[in-house]
This record gives sequence, C-alpha cells and structure tokens, in this order.
Amino acid sequence: MKRARPKKPSVPSPKDETVRHTILAVLSREPLSAMEISGEVRIPERDVYAHLEHVRKTLHATGRRLVVTPAQCLECGFVFHKRDRLTKPGKCPVCGEGHIREPLYCIEKDKR
Ligand SMILES: [Zn+2]
Repeated sequence: MKRARPKKPSVPSPKDETVRHTILAVLSREPLSAMEISGEVRIPERDVYAHLEHVRKTLHATGRRLVVTPAQCLECGFVFHKRDRLTKPGKCPVCGEGHIREPLYCIEKDKR
C-alpha cells in the first residue's frame, strides 16, 4: 500500500522522548490499560504499544521491569498468561467471545 502524502497534523504530536517519559511516570504511579495510557499521554491507542515496547527495553537496562497483568476473558475467566505480545487479544480461544479485559501495565518499583 502506498503511503499517502503526510497531512499536516492539526495538533503537533508530542516528541517520542516526552511520550515515553510520561508513560514511565504514569505507570510508576498506577497500573493502566493501553486505552487509559492513550488518554493520559494523548496519543492514539495503537501508538501506545510501540512506546511500551521501547519503555520495556529501556527499563531493562535500569533493573526495573514493565509488569503486564494479562488480559482476561470476561465471559469464562480465561487468562491470557502465555501471551507475550503487548496488544490485547481479539477473541477468547476457549469460549470464542470477544469480551476481553485489556491487559494492564505498570512499572515495578526498584527493590534495592
Ligand atoms: Zn472466554
């Protein structure tokens, strides 16, 4: 697919550095879903995942961790434990329902 000529955004998008800094700050405070992060940081939800991947790598170097509370099916209670990807699953593999509670992300406090 050919990329359309980029349109001038009406609102300037925050710089990646700033976005990641803010994500770090809010996730150090409380666990949030990607949708909530998107609201806090004011970026599209689909962009949150890429930033989270980056934050996860950055944290690794500092000895802290991005902790993911796995998504869970609200119909049958199935927990998506083995899911390593950060994005939320679309459907439950057990009951086939799409009522999935989003995964929550938080930053583990430095235990030293
Ligand atoms: Zn289910």
